[in-house]
Amino acid sequence: MASSGTGIQSVQDLESHAWQRSMQNAVRSVPELLECLALRPEDFPGPVDLENPFPLFVPREFIARMNPGDPLDPLLLQILPTSEERIQTPGYQRDPVGDEYVERAPGLLHKYTSRVLMIASGLCAVHCRYCFRRHFPYDESPKSNEQWQRAIDLIASDPSIREVILSGGDPLSLGNQRLKGLGNTIESIEHVQRLRIHTRFPVMIPNRIDSEFCDWIASSRLSCWVVLHINHANEIDQALTRAIRALKLAGASVLNQAVLLRGINDTVVLQRNLCERLIDVGVQPYYLHQLDHVEGAAHFETPLVVGEQIIDELRKLLPGYAVPRLVREVSGEPHKTLLR
Ligand SMILES: *Cc1c(COP(=O)(O)O)cnc(C)c1O
Ligand code: SF4
Repeated sequence: MASSGTGIQSVQDLESHAWQRSMQNAVRSVPELLECLALRPEDFPGPVDLENPFPLFVPREFIARMNPGDPLDPLLLQILPTSEERIQTPGYQRDPVGDEYVERAPGLLHKYTSRVLMIASGLCAVHCRYCFRRHFPYDESPKSNEQWQRAIDLIASDPSIREVILSGGDPLSLGNQRLKGLGNTIESIEHVQRLRIHTRFPVMIPNRIDSEFCDWIASSRLSCWVVLHINHANEIDQALTRAIRALKLAGASVLNQAVLLRGINDTVVLQRNLCERLIDVGVQPYYLHQLDHVEGAAHFETPLVVGEQIIDELRKLLPGYAVPRLVREVSGEPHKTLLR
């Protein structure tokens, strides 16, 4: 699709309104979700949670990939609030990865050499129950150009920073205009060579990857790395496959990070299916994360030995580039800790 001319402009407006409409129409109530899936509260082994302070939020595009009538659907389990989240477990904290200690300017986390991470937005296209930033104080992160100025000054003053990671929350929840504004400011800093975007938007609402966004990626001087977050092969449908193709046509390299989750993707077969689907649609498995110990997520924990065995088996079954690195985030370490 062309990117200029008044007639075309209105097509683009329609496109961008489409993903915003998907956000507005996302399901936020547990009874409504259960109705979509032909399920009743008593179909679940434990109680569902109707009043969780981290509320249900899931787009209909994602619900459409769940199996109706299956209370153990691996996509459903990632997003359904249950009473297990109320259980306090020793060692599970509100800030399990020590974000607060590495915030060098408002919204700017500088934990590792050569790259910084910007909390570009507090908004996501979905609420994942195991999210390690589910208690993050997003309200305090910058929203405007002026509020980002200290972070930008800091990046500009440190030539060792070669890569800026837009994260959150989800940076694609900023509209194209604000995203481009922030991205172009980063691009104007000469020593920055790479832009990385950590996002689950293409998975949840694939039409977020519109032509305006792709044109911007294609025109940037920066080399662009998009890191998706897909945990199960069932998440990969036609629409997501098209979005991935569009990102790659725009010149982005596309990687995936997954979280190892009990009862969702914690077997060799499930991880093999995921990795194969990923490489078949042109995405390289990057990280498989051992769960961060965030308060409310202990029921997703998988023993370390399970992850190690899965990786060892994958190595026998798949080409080397299809096997992710099993990692854990340890506060104070100079890089993510490689477990396998
Ligand atoms: C994970 C992470 C990164 C990126 O680490 P890579 O190993 O380069 O993927 C950067 N900053 C922070 C704060 C992180 O948590
Ligand atoms: S999309 Fe990422 S940041 Fe947002 S809730 Fe899920 S895991 Fe957390």
